[in-house]
Amino acid sequence: MNSWSAGVAAILAFPLALQPLLAQQAPPQSPAEPPAPAVGDGLYSDAAKRLVAEAAIAAGQDLTAELALMCRKQPPPRVPNRPAAEGAAAPAPRPPRPQPLLHAPNRVFDNVYHFGTSQVGATVIRTSAGLILIDTLMTAANAEHLLVAGMAREGLHVRDIKYVVLTHAHGDHHGGLTYLRSLNPAIRAAMSADDWAYSRAPFYMPDGSLDPAPKPVWQKGDISYADTLRLKLGGTTIHLVKTPGHTPGTSGLLYNVTVNGRQETVMQWGGGQPQNADYSLATVETFFAAAKASRPSILWSSHNGPDFSAKAAQVQPGSPNPFVWGQEKIGRYIAVVTLCKRAVAAG
Ligand SMILES: [Zn+2]
Repeated sequence: MNSWSAGVAAILAFPLALQPLLAQQAPPQSPAEPPAPAVGDGLYSDAAKRLVAEAAIAAGQDLTAELALMCRKQPPPRVPNRPAAEGAAAPAPRPPRPQPLLHAPNRVFDNVYHFGTSQVGATVIRTSAGLILIDTLMTAANAEHLLVAGMAREGLHVRDIKYVVLTHAHGDHHGGLTYLRSLNPAIRAAMSADDWAYSRAPFYMPDGSLDPAPKPVWQKGDISYADTLRLKLGGTTIHLVKTPGHTPGTSGLLYNVTVNGRQETVMQWGGGQPQNADYSLATVETFFAAAKASRPSILWSSHNGPDFSAKAAQVQPGSPNPFVWGQEKIGRYIAVVTLCKRAVAAG
């Protein structure tokens, strides 16, 4: 057992410490602010409370936000994660969205770049044999103005993209694919078989509307997988793990990147976040079991959150990278998510 898995095992096996962690007072709120969610909100059974107490120990001082988010009863998914009924009405036109914010700088690790808006991003991995792109932004216009133009500024070109990994079949992740293929028809797209199937029917977006994005069109050479897939290009391997819930075949990703000359492993949630009710305990445990072998040190998502740009601005070659949590902290994160999922299941 290595130190990483030993740490996780020790945390998960930690004797139940009945510390007054759950009774901590929240800081006073001004009348205008909604009250912050309390750790353990909506969980009442003794079993759930014990699990939350264990999760609080694993969280320590630096994962308190994650603890508060994960360890409380979650609302049910807003929409069913299944295709719309046969013959469903065509999507109604939506009002134009506010101009999305471009985050910059874009180079986040030695060989990794991230482009997009404050809502959704696309990640480019540079390898010795070409580029891998993870997700494609929401529309052709986003792909053109945010992704392709951003890549050009960084000296990267669409013609060098070999693989596009689609985390799942929602339009904000695959909406730019058709445009990218108009520039580079040789792109091979990879997605789970379940989500290729899911993408053939009209389906709902998380806001309840029908997805208006053009569907990702299967092309000769595209890649489909059942449960797991290892995709290799140059010195990079992306391990796709089917993590159903957000869609029937969402992929969780594990891949190696270089940070200040050192190899690190990224663990990327494919869609949404693990506290969401659409991710089951079984799904997160499947993903974490796969993650164990690669000892991740970086947590990543196509929805990296509103503070992403501020963090990206702190990236300086040769200095500690703000996105690298380290194996020990990711091990505790895994413990927090697992224990909280168990607590929520215990109710
Ligand atoms: Zn989605």
